[in-house]
Amino acid sequence: MNLFTETSLSPDILKAIGELGYESPTEIQKQTIPFILSDIRDLIALAQTGTGKTAAFSLPILDMIDDTSRKIQLLVLCPTRELCLQISKDIKNYSKYMNIKTTAVYGGSSIVEQMRSLKEKPQIIVGTPGRVIDLINRKALDFSAIHWLVLDEADEMLSMGFKDELETILSETPETKQTFLFSATMNKEVERISKNYLTKPHRISVGSINEVKKNITHEYYVVGYRQKKEALKRLIDANPNQYSIIFCRTRMETQEVADFLMQNGYAADALHGDLSQAQRDTVMKKFRLKNIDILVATDVAARGLDVNSLTHVIHFSLPDDPEVFVHRSGRTGRAGKDGISMALIKPEESRKLKQIKSATKIEIHERTIPTGDQIIKAQVGGVFEKLFTEHEDLFEFDDSLIPDLSNFTKEELVHQLLQFQLKDLALYYKDKHDLVEQKLSSRDDDYSRRDRGRDRDRDRGRDRDRGRDRDRGGKPRRKDENMVRFFFNLGKKDHLKKLDVLDIINKATAGGKTKKRAEIGDIEILEKFSFFEVEKSFKDNVLSNIQSMKFKGKDMRAEVAN
Ligand code: AMP
Repeated sequence: MNLFTETSLSPDILKAIGELGYESPTEIQKQTIPFILSDIRDLIALAQTGTGKTAAFSLPILDMIDDTSRKIQLLVLCPTRELCLQISKDIKNYSKYMNIKTTAVYGGSSIVEQMRSLKEKPQIIVGTPGRVIDLINRKALDFSAIHWLVLDEADEMLSMGFKDELETILSETPETKQTFLFSATMNKEVERISKNYLTKPHRISVGSINEVKKNITHEYYVVGYRQKKEALKRLIDANPNQYSIIFCRTRMETQEVADFLMQNGYAADALHGDLSQAQRDTVMKKFRLKNIDILVATDVAARGLDVNSLTHVIHFSLPDDPEVFVHRSGRTGRAGKDGISMALIKPEESRKLKQIKSATKIEIHERTIPTGDQIIKAQVGGVFEKLFTEHEDLFEFDDSLIPDLSNFTKEELVHQLLQFQLKDLALYYKDKHDLVEQKLSSRDDDYSRRDRGRDRDRDRGRDRDRGRDRDRGGKPRRKDENMVRFFFNLGKKDHLKKLDVLDIINKATAGGKTKKRAEIGDIEILEKFSFFEVEKSFKDNVLSNIQSMKFKGKDMRAEVAN
């Protein structure tokens, strides 16, 4: 039974959310839907992303909106372009069977295009504060009929410096409107805005920041700075089939960790502010589609990403703010699933860990970095888990294709298959020593001071390197400026060999205007995908021709590597 029926929402809305698989309202929806439907007061809701807050405010508003009027009735303000697109997509889904138009307006995209779309008279606008102000200044927005104003992630908007924009928009909209403020945290700035712009608001709180999700297991691993990446690799290997975000502190660290993982054959990528908007969109898309299953990100860049099925969150570096730790960890364990949060802690970070534990009341258990044997054991478990849970891509297998195996016992066959599947990993760990066990240091301050100095020196060194890279045109990974580096979707597991790649590139670049052969640079074949370099002037040939070619029946795809 769909428990939303008890909320008195209209059949059009119930039908749409039924198709999305929503069966019962989430905690915040249980509280906000009846309130918004029946009350005229403003509202402050303390709730994080992932609690179902978009539906919490938009479903009751859609129920009351006047779809015969073509004036803007709902304005939703949110901090990032990604969130803006997510919210407008959700609202469009919910209003699928209604005569409602929703338009998203955000920076970094053509304002002319957005103004054109506003001419189609949407009743709902979802926007970032800066772009909304730009559009107000261009007289492209008429807010005279606004009934509802939603400030989503108000704390984020304020911490991103949108205070003046918010105040302007709040005062540009009719006084009669109902304002709903959603925030993950309640800090002084949020309190001040609500005091000045909301009238006697009703307050609700769902899963407040200090309310730790019970379905997340928290672990920490003490590891020296030099061993961090190797420890990370072991944690990933010891937790097969994971879909995770690895949080880093700086953009440089994020790129470094992502490069390390990619070079080691993981389907990983980096998300941080040094990438262009288009590059960030591509990475997020790849992650959502699970073309990559590990995302290495800074806190800010990961904000706009909405994924519900993360199995793990890994803190490669601890954040300074305990709330950020809870925020990061809370990205796993969503939608009723269990999650694991793992933190790599340097011996000198015991004070920081203590602070996080006491501020958040989270129990974080110490674990030791898995040994090679433990990893292989976990991987074997991972193979079986995959065998028995992944049915989507299975095809009807004709038994006549299987050769006569009667000379082998079942056990021998399983053994052989596992050896085949885990060969690379077993070889890697065969002669590897266990990581030296580290202990938390009590001489916290001494260490952290020294550590800070060391980090600073390291950062300076990196900045120097970066300067050098910039001089070369800001493409640190490319060895040769005449070459373009491509990501290619096939790898060792597809039995791809260097000769195959040469052949593919030659075919894709043959017959150009000059009949000249394309120069081919580095070819790097990893487990699930590969990289190759081709002379710049053949970039378009590679991009357009490869996608219409097949390798052993598999579709091929090449993209310019970020
Ligand atoms: P939000 O907090 O709005 O970002 O929503 C988090 C996720 O939960 C989104 O992917 C929604 O589609 C999903 N969601 C929202 N409400 C429900 C519900 N009642 N049942 C199932 N999924 C929901």
